[in-house]
Amino acid sequence: MSAPDPASAAQPGGTAAAWPGHCLCGHVRYELTAPPLTCYACHCTDCQRRTGGAMRLVMWVHRSAVQVTLGTPVLLEFDGAGGRPRRSRACARCDTRLWAEPPNQPELAMLFPGTLENPRAFEPVAHLWLRSALPWTLIPPGAVRYDTQPEDPHELIRLWRAARAADRLP
Ligand SMILES: [Zn+2]
Ligand SMILES: [Zn+2]
Repeated sequence: MSAPDPASAAQPGGTAAAWPGHCLCGHVRYELTAPPLTCYACHCTDCQRRTGGAMRLVMWVHRSAVQVTLGTPVLLEFDGAGGRPRRSRACARCDTRLWAEPPNQPELAMLFPGTLENPRAFEPVAHLWLRSALPWTLIPPGAVRYDTQPEDPHELIRLWRAARAADRLP
């Protein structure tokens, strides 16, 4: 794990280290300026449909820690499964989804960590909704697994903190 830790890399009077990210075409660039709260993989059918893939990587971050440095991501608003309102930010040119802004959690953003320049720095701490995982999906041995999702979502933050404490994550 070689990514800098903004907490320890902060300079007095200077700026903290940041994890840069961008969309596919480069029209929108951003920086994540604080460590994430958690990162997990979700294999639910909504995430499969939404990404067109086998799973979605989800990274919870403070919304104030996502700083747009180039361009303007558009705001997409729609009702998801069960009529739940969803909002996400995307590049209008290349259609890359960058992060979601859940209306009921104004302080949080759900970053799509594949848009970071170094997504390898962040390994998901848990795999959710394995009940609907595609049959050929390989889950790393030792990964924390949920048939659906944890009853208390804070469990995902606790798992992340434990992994950071064990020096496995930035
Ligand atoms: Zn783009
Ligand atoms: Zn999901």
